[in-house]
Parts: sequence; C-alpha cells; structure tokens
Amino acid sequence: MKWAMIEMSIKCPHCDSPVHVDGPYRKILCGSCQSEIDFPGDVWKDLLEDVQEEVVNEFEEGEGSNSTIFGHFNMSMTYAKLKAYCRNCKRDFDMETEYTGQDMLVCPDCGAKTPVFPAPEWFKGAMSRAKLIVGALPDIENVDEPGGLSGPVAFSCPQCGGSLMIDGKDRIVICEYCETNVYLPDDLWLRLHPAKKKNRWFVGME
Ligand SMILES: [Zn+2]
Ligand SMILES: [Zn+2]
Ligand SMILES: [Zn+2]
Repeated sequence: MKWAMIEMSIKCPHCDSPVHVDGPYRKILCGSCQSEIDFPGDVWKDLLEDVQEEVVNEFEEGEGSNSTIFGHFNMSMTYAKLKAYCRNCKRDFDMETEYTGQDMLVCPDCGAKTPVFPAPEWFKGAMSRAKLIVGALPDIENVDEPGGLSGPVAFSCPQCGGSLMIDGKDRIVICEYCETNVYLPDDLWLRLHPAKKKNRWFVGME
C-alpha cells in the first residue's frame, strides 16, 4: 500500500479564522464562529487528484510538498509520501499485520489509539486509489463529544468527597451528594477539551 500524508487548513469563509481540515469530510465546523463550512466533493477532487498522481508516481518515500492555494477556499496544504504512523510516538504502522478491519489501530509500542476507516465512496471520486484513511479526527457529526478523553471521568467533589462522573459538557457541575456547584479545575477541563492542534491524516492507496 502507498501512503499519502495530508495536513491542511482553510480560512473560514465567514470569519477568516484558520480551520484545520482533520480528515476527508464534506462539512467542517469553524471552531471560532461555529459556522458549518461545506467542503464539496469536486473541491476535494481538484485538490487531491494531483496529490495522488505525485505521491504514487513521482515522490520518493519522505518527499513532500507544501502549497498555499487560492481557489474555492484560501487554504494551505502539506502533503507527502509518508507511511501512516502512531500520532503519539510516531512509530510506523505495519498495516499488513496490525489492521484487521477494526476502527482503532492500537500502537504496539505506546498503546495510543489512532482511528482508521475505509475510504468513503465519495472520496474515491477525488482519490480513485484510496482504500484506507488513518488518523482522521472525528467529523462534524461527532463534534459534540468531548475531544480529549473518551467516556466520562471520575472526579471527587471538593466539598464532600463524593465521586462524580464528569462528561465534559459543562464546566460547572452540581454534586449529586451535597448539591454544591463544583467548578472543574483547569487541568481536568483541558484534558477534556484539548486545544486543537494541526492534525496529520493519511490516505492508504492500492
Ligand atoms: Zn469561522
Ligand atoms: Zn505509539
Ligand atoms: Zn459534594
């Protein structure tokens, strides 16, 4: 399998803030103004047709390119011929032995999980050889979920010591035992809502 690494961001057409495009999605949410941005399939095709050609036929392993594009969106994009790797420790995945159709790749070295899914049909209209997408962050349909930790976390009420389950939706929670309003500390809140970093994702092609 040949791999393309992609890292891209667009300028929000509504507020001009940079918005990371963390996967092959047709709708993207601007974190600054909360607008839903449509990213049409034909714009993907314009962008990625040539990327596929270069990565498959021209680039050496590790070679890449970086461009600023003024078109449907003002955007910047970096792409390279690079194998999919663990987002935590950067170890390359060996897909032949480590991928068996599951939706998370678990790094054998550090245990970190990296999402993987088959390339959607519409995406193959842009990159005809695309098979697998690795490392894409959840798309707009999943943005309600807290980004950092998966599932609720336990936290002790500072007032009564009662064990509270925190789901990350509200910064202030009411203790179910003593009814105190508990303001969640910064470190916990940041773990539930990490600052968004640029995300690299990978397209595996036959
Ligand atoms: Zn915006
Ligand atoms: Zn790892
Ligand atoms: Zn309490």
